[in-house]
Amino acid sequence: MKLYEYEAKNLFRYYNIPVPESFLIYKDDNLDLVDIDKEVVLKAQVLVGGRGKAGGILFAKNKKEFIEKAKELFNKEIKGEKVEKILVEEKLKIKKEYYVSITIDRDAKKPVLIFSTEGGVDIEEVAKKNPEKIIKYHIDVLKPFLPYKIRWILDGKIPSEELAIANIIYNLYQLFKEKDATLVEINPLVITEDNKIYAADAVVILDDDAHYRQNFEAFEESNKEKLPFAYVELDGDITVIGNGAGLTLASMDIIKNLGREPACFLDIGGGADTETVKLALKKVLSNKKVKGVFINILAGITKCDEVAKGIVEILKEHPNVKFSVRMMGTNEELGRKILEENNIYYETSMEEAAKKLIENL
Ligand code: GDP
Ligand code: MN
Repeated sequence: MKLYEYEAKNLFRYYNIPVPESFLIYKDDNLDLVDIDKEVVLKAQVLVGGRGKAGGILFAKNKKEFIEKAKELFNKEIKGEKVEKILVEEKLKIKKEYYVSITIDRDAKKPVLIFSTEGGVDIEEVAKKNPEKIIKYHIDVLKPFLPYKIRWILDGKIPSEELAIANIIYNLYQLFKEKDATLVEINPLVITEDNKIYAADAVVILDDDAHYRQNFEAFEESNKEKLPFAYVELDGDITVIGNGAGLTLASMDIIKNLGREPACFLDIGGGADTETVKLALKKVLSNKKVKGVFINILAGITKCDEVAKGIVEILKEHPNVKFSVRMMGTNEELGRKILEENNIYYETSMEEAAKKLIENL
């Protein structure tokens, strides 16, 4: 489970990892009542990555600007995710941005500490262009990972007066271990002009398999907004909806083999009903790039007629989007009838269904 930035920062506070002064505002808050006496950063609380680049971080110099920017942000969607909460933070005067994370290296079967003096930006880019700027250190979980060791790892890489970062990393590792995280990331870890150190951003992913021994309920809010299906937005214009991750991936391959790019991966899972199908279609069609929808259902506990009903209802609202459905299994005849009555292209072969969709675009 991925935590919101403000939840992750609450954990950071508890573990003595310094974070900027901040407060949270909600969509229906009366912003006139908020006191702003310094420059602030408004940060959309969404779970998608690359939020800054997608317009999810705004700056305001005074109260008037703050109200404008807050309204602007609440009316935005960041990569398809609605903004319901904004974290308002004092604006730091940034001198340097570092990158720190701890995650599991599955090959080494150990946690790995990753540190880079090139923070703020995409760490993947740094890894490609300047791999020598990234330090990796595998942590032995059976030994204490003490600050002196971390100072030794960082020695020569950062100015000696910044070695207090070692204490922050030590605290971050305690959090990682005690909360059963699979990732803790600070990007950027900021050095301010007056030489203070802050975690300006925070990503924490908790291991869902550790649910039984962790108090996940403390983060129930994160779950509330979770979609009842697996959805990953991609760059193409053909939406792919399947039931089961394998079938959905295969559907994406078919679209790619036909020379087109999928607009998303959406696995509605087993037993999806009409409402889930409607919700899934609404989600994918909120992406205005989408030209065609390819639905690939192998119905077991899922029922074809339930799926068909959902498609028909949503189709009416999007007359310009082309649909093609491959559907087999439970209640196939009923489902086919519903689709045919509504002139929706239907096939039992997934290759044919995808081909027809692309021909008709
Ligand atoms: P992300 O895009 O979701 O990773 O959001 P971040 O919280 O990491 O912010 C993205 C970028 O915005 C940072 O790398 C900074 O360059 C900038 N930024 C964020 N907070 C501040 C701040 O307090 N002051 C300044 N000057 N820049 C900030
Ligand atoms: Mn960041």
